[in-house]
Amino acid sequence: MRSLSLHLITTILFLIFGCSSTKETSQEEIKGLPYDPPGSTVTTNKTIYPQHKRTFLFSGSKLYVSNEFPGSRLNDFYQEDDSTFIAVIEPENSPINNSAWYSFKIWSEMDREINLKILYKDGSHRYIPKLSYDGNNWRPIDTNYYFNDTSKGIANLKLKIKPTSLWVSAQELFLSDDYESWIDELMTKSFLKKSVIGESAKGRAINKIEINEENKDPDLVFIIGRQHPPEVTGAFALKSFVEKLIDDSELSKNFRKRFRVIVIPLVNPDGVDEGHWRHNSNGVDLNRDWFAFNQPETRLVRDELLKTAGQSQSKVKFFVDFHSTQQDVFYIIAKDSSLDFDPTYETTKSWLNRTHEIFPDYKLNVDESLNDYNAPTSDDWAYNVFNAPALTYEIGDETDRALIRKICSGAAEAMMEILLKAKK
Ligand SMILES: [Zn+2]
Repeated sequence: MRSLSLHLITTILFLIFGCSSTKETSQEEIKGLPYDPPGSTVTTNKTIYPQHKRTFLFSGSKLYVSNEFPGSRLNDFYQEDDSTFIAVIEPENSPINNSAWYSFKIWSEMDREINLKILYKDGSHRYIPKLSYDGNNWRPIDTNYYFNDTSKGIANLKLKIKPTSLWVSAQELFLSDDYESWIDELMTKSFLKKSVIGESAKGRAINKIEINEENKDPDLVFIIGRQHPPEVTGAFALKSFVEKLIDDSELSKNFRKRFRVIVIPLVNPDGVDEGHWRHNSNGVDLNRDWFAFNQPETRLVRDELLKTAGQSQSKVKFFVDFHSTQQDVFYIIAKDSSLDFDPTYETTKSWLNRTHEIFPDYKLNVDESLNDYNAPTSDDWAYNVFNAPALTYEIGDETDRALIRKICSGAAEAMMEILLKAKK
């Protein structure tokens, strides 16, 4: 009964608010982004190619390779000659954006060196390998031992293999368990609450963090992340951004007196734990499903944000969705050309300008070209529904991790300053 009435409320909320953004737009008018492969905006379930979990043993070479862990991706592995091995990587389905994720571990009975080629089906090499001997501490491979053969789309690595496992991964592993641990660590603060908003297609929890000092009539900020599994630098960015909002600085305390923040840090736990390149476990790009809402993950997040905003959509003052791409870039919604002064655009620009003031030496790339208000992406949805500044914050795949922490903490500071300056 309870779930029925909840469902009813959600449906009513959706009818009232969810459609307001889309009443003049049909599915045919919804376009993907210029770099999307064909079919991305069709978000009904698609077939997933299975990845067989197994450990390969090369008895002559006394070498072992395994993908038997969460977040792994290794579709085949074979030996070419005494010291050369081939790893074959395939996406979860295709056509697909070239976010060619791989992750596997290798060990041998005695110390030795091997040459490893990584080959791809339906994609090409993208990520500089990250190595770890414990699955927790990572470093990028030494460039002397790595060659990205862009003419063939493959990578050549020279690796020192030991009896302890060496993880070779597109990016550091930051999986649903790591999010759980991170969120649990935060929960020592009384104004934070963790809850589960629902389950992914495969039954994994989708968590919400709420920053709420129980103020009367607070304004709202919405933060989401990790719709795309390999986008680990976006996850690090979200972490630093959120940690700034909850610290003990005067700015953060003042901010929390006026704002309640909803964070949904991991929208696609299935894709992350199953080592996907891009999609959820139904084979769909979730960040192209914010018009049709065919997928459980996007529906859950939408309903949660609409429910939180309730009747007062104007209370939503900022929406940010964290991602990763080849470089650090802010994809913002272009100025509404029908207005002399577009307040949401101006707020976004003030925030970016303030961030630039804090980090004058940091190159701030801003791109307004991708948003025509009709893309089926989270930021366009949020902009249309809440009429709030909404953007996609992209962190470079290889941006220095310490720099990510610094810049994203500063960007959070700038956001708090700008939002506090605005009239209530
Ligand atoms: Zn993305």
